Amino acid sequence: QAKRLGSQQCAFYTPVLDQHTSARLQLEGELREALDNEEFFLVYQPQIDMRLQQITGVEALIRWQHPKRGLVSPAQFIPVAQETGLIIEIGAWVLQTACHQMRQWQQQGVAIPKVAVNVSGVQIEAGTLLATLDSALQQNQLDPSLLELEISEDFFIHQADTVLQTLTSIREQGVKLSIDDFGTGYSSLSQIHRLPLDILKIDKSFIDQLAHQDTAIVQAIIGMAKALDLEIIAEGVETAQQAGALLDMGCSQAQGYLYSPPLPLEALADFIKQRSFHVL
Ligand code: C2E
Ligand code: MG
Ligand code: MG
Ligand code: MG
Repeated sequence: QAKRLGSQQCAFYTPVLDQHTSARLQLEGELREALDNEEFFLVYQPQIDMRLQQITGVEALIRWQHPKRGLVSPAQFIPVAQETGLIIEIGAWVLQTACHQMRQWQQQGVAIPKVAVNVSGVQIEAGTLLATLDSALQQNQLDPSLLELEISEDFFIHQADTVLQTLTSIREQGVKLSIDDFGTGYSSLSQIHRLPLDILKIDKSFIDQLAHQDTAIVQAIIGMAKALDLEIIAEGVETAQQAGALLDMGCSQAQGYLYSPPLPLEALADFIKQRSFHVL
């Protein structure tokens, strides 16, 4: 069959490619409908100050309740949303929803100091983030200092000047900026001091190493963050042993299953009421 198509063509790839594209196209179509059909929702994972035993904020994480597939993980659909540009619309919905929720908590007197929202590099490069952010803050009359944007480290590898300008002006408005998944993106250490940042989130893969008494890298990251005057949060803390090691090294903020998984609104309200963080 391949031969009939001539030696120049690579017919063996065609069926695989077709399958791939049709599955992709289907997911893309369903993603488009998901916004209109209100299939997305946010869950919120508490961020804990282990020393003070207080909530310092929550991270908003998107979930997709698909009518047939069930709950689809962001690891599956965020990459597709990024490649298709749909992340711009989805990201705007996330920002709007998280700001609205933060305002609600404020009005209800719920003790949540800030909300962190994940932002994709695609949203920043598209040049629409500033306007999206302004309208989310304004429509909800939210103080910018109650909002944090998380940007994954890998995005900073190719930091164009326009991107840095955008981030700088966002930060000048009082919105906090954090570098997410730090340590995985191979961003240039010689450039990190130039980035407009407030917070560094140590990637879970380094926290996992703490279980094997492997503290050198985490210690070095904490030292660097402190030298740069950045706040530090450890991601994916699952054991009391990891929490203890982090506290010993001077990192007091953590996020992870040890304290709480990401929670829907009602469960989050219960978590805050109980205030049972089981800290060491
Ligand atoms: P991330 O921003 O680094 O979020 C942390 C991920 O680790 C979340 O996965 C969270 O549920 C998970 N996690 C937290 N603590 C633990 C722990 O102790 N153990 C383990 N094993 N996992 C833990 P999730 O919610 O599946 O999100 C995955 C990624 O998808 C996020 O990584 C982020 O990059 C992306 N994402 C999620 N929501 C959004 C969004 O609204 N916009 C964008 N652009 N990306 C998002
Ligand atoms: Mg994040
Ligand atoms: Mg992260
Ligand atoms: Mg991560």
